[in-house]
Amino acid sequence: MNVLVIGGAGYIGSHCVRQLQEAGHRPVVLDNLVFGHRKAVAPDVSFYEGDLGDRAFVVDLLRKESIEIVMHFAAFAYVGESVEDPLKYYDNNLARTTYLLMAMREAGVNRFVFSSTCASFGIPERMPMTEDLPQKPINPYGQTKLDVETMLKACAEAYGMSFAAFRYFNAAGAAEDGRIGEDHNPETHLIPLAIWAAQGKRDQLTVFGDDYPTPDGTCLRDYIHIDDLCRAHIAVFDKLKTPGAALFYNLGTGTPASVLEIINAVERVTGLKVPYRIGPRRAGDPPALYADSGKAQRELGWKPRFNDIEAIIATAWKWHQAHPDGYGSKLD
Ligand code: UDP
Repeated sequence: MNVLVIGGAGYIGSHCVRQLQEAGHRPVVLDNLVFGHRKAVAPDVSFYEGDLGDRAFVVDLLRKESIEIVMHFAAFAYVGESVEDPLKYYDNNLARTTYLLMAMREAGVNRFVFSSTCASFGIPERMPMTEDLPQKPINPYGQTKLDVETMLKACAEAYGMSFAAFRYFNAAGAAEDGRIGEDHNPETHLIPLAIWAAQGKRDQLTVFGDDYPTPDGTCLRDYIHIDDLCRAHIAVFDKLKTPGAALFYNLGTGTPASVLEIINAVERVTGLKVPYRIGPRRAGDPPALYADSGKAQRELGWKPRFNDIEAIIATAWKWHQAHPDGYGSKLD
């Protein structure tokens, strides 16, 4: 399939591009390089720098490259920033996705894969989280993702467009060969920050709260290897052949890990100490979030290959060792 990967130079998008190539598809990347890295995309992949706000350009690209499926990863994803500047999130995550869907209609492309988030559920009523739990996001970031899900349902009904929306839990790790990986600016995620603290690139890690109602008092999250996450996006392609298919899947391993467990695992993998202190809770952090990904497993024949947090962290460690300055590293 000819697949347009929007945000294909970002963390999740770039890993999807590689998985698509491995599965024998032809990825084409569109990225505005606001957060993406040109070096995250191999030179043999068609690459376009551009913006979803430019509809004529997107329609032209869809036609020119004979695109059959669009995968959309280009979103802003900083929860705190979305609270401080919600319009930035409604513009980028909702308005630009609207323009994209309009461009797809104009070009006659009707299969769509969307990156949604477990943040669309807000504070869930039950654990592990199944797809049917009520979605009540508690910040504009989660709301914009839910709004797109709602818009997609309407498009499936009205136009027969088919789509899959994946609600990600915590994407983690890097490609197994260590050539591409996570490079956010600013970096806010636990695993890269713990690795940097171990390497001495940061003074120390702050654990956001140890008074949660969890076994060790720190938050529980579901860390899923980035390649496992991407493989699910490709496993859904067959189902998108059905016009009007409206599919939702939660993607995690189902095995929660606490912040302290992650710190210990980073120490075991790296053989280094992770200096840390206990700080106050971070606003908007639910105590526990982990997936029941049984639906994806049953319907897509998909299964995470990485079930062990140390194995996931080992791939991140390989990337960070080889690229101390991320994509800015001289080693590249
Ligand atoms: N966390 C932490 N210190 C940090 C960064 C994150 O204690 O410097 C915690 C955070 O409170 C959450 C977990 O680590 O419980 C995972 O956070 P991350 O930002 O990686 O992902 P999120 O779950 O917010 O999507």
